[in-house]
This record gives sequence, C-alpha cells and structure tokens, in this order.
Amino acid sequence: MAIRTIARLGEPILRRTASPVAREQLSSAWFEQLVADLVDTMRHADGAGLAAPQIFESFQVCVIEVGRDGKHNPRYPLLPDIPLRVFVNPQLTPLTTSYDFLLENESISMYEGCLSVPGLRGRVTRPRSVRLRALDVKGEAIDEVWSGPVAAVIQHEVDHLHGSVFLDRVDASTLCFLQEYERYVPPEERIVDHGAPRPKEG
Ligand code: ZN
Repeated sequence: MAIRTIARLGEPILRRTASPVAREQLSSAWFEQLVADLVDTMRHADGAGLAAPQIFESFQVCVIEVGRDGKHNPRYPLLPDIPLRVFVNPQLTPLTTSYDFLLENESISMYEGCLSVPGLRGRVTRPRSVRLRALDVKGEAIDEVWSGPVAAVIQHEVDHLHGSVFLDRVDASTLCFLQEYERYVPPEERIVDHGAPRPKEG
C-alpha cells in the first residue's frame, strides 16, 4: 500500500491534459500499482474521488468511492454511497437539450471541494445527467448513464484529466473555507438537484 503525495493547486501537472492509457498498459504491473495507489491515497484522505494527475501521474485514470464499510464519507456526509469504481480513458457526454446553455431542470448545483484545493468549498452547477464511456480496470468497456450527485462527482474527476479544477467552474461568490461552510451553508443548499424526480404525492 502506498499513500502518495497529493498535488496542490499551482502544480503544473494539474493543468495538463493527461495521456490516455494504452490498452497494452492495462495488464502491466505499473498500471496495477497506479490504481492501487490512487485508491489508497483517496481513502487515506477521505476523498470521494481522485484522478491520477493529483498524484503526479499524467494519465487518464480516476477512481471514485463514497462511503465504505457502512460508513458515510466524513468529508461529504450528504453524498449517496458509491461503491469503488475505476475509470480509464473516460469520455463524458452531457445529456442536455443544448450544448450552449443548461436548462435549470437539467442541472445540479453542489458545493464541491477538492483534495488539490484543501480547505475550500464552493458551489458548482453542472449537467445533472451524463453518459460515461470508459474502460474499467480490466479493459472492459463501460457505457453508463449517471444522474444526480454521482454525475457531479464523475464530472469533477474527469475535469482533472483535462487540466481543469472546480475553481474554473465555481460561482466565485459562494467560495468559502470549510469551517465557514459548515457554519453558514444550510444542508439543503449543499446539494441541489434541480431535476431530481419528485417523490410521488400519495
Ligand atoms: Zn478534485
């Protein structure tokens, strides 16, 4: 097990587009170690996800996991649990009516944080549904549709593979430190899924 140093904002590697992983690399010891280190480092830091550039590896690999062993993630207690997933060379297509603007009911606004931007939270609005095409850790094709908070987490991680961080998309007026976030941002404003199906009235 290896817990790696996490690149913080200002490290040039966070602003580079990562290289795709070649198919023949997927069965290598190097790749196996990279994925193991990503998972170990994410878990050690209580992250909800981690992308390879964040551990100084400029390759298109990211992992997500929320909650483990029946416990919610302490940094993101409001996120639904997501079992561990590994995405290699992921490609996202937003499932929105238009590429030019985001309809409110097709959006999700969530206060995001980032292990590479320690201590800050801020509200980011993203498409609430995305199609994800990627390879899994064994090279099998993934083609899935994700909606809601998980879709936002996936978009945050895939952004890292293209040199973007959440600060590039944040509503700057909502940026706050973690302690002030806990104090002033009411729980109902932390994740607002504008298109979430409403519970049926009964
Ligand atoms: Zn991040």
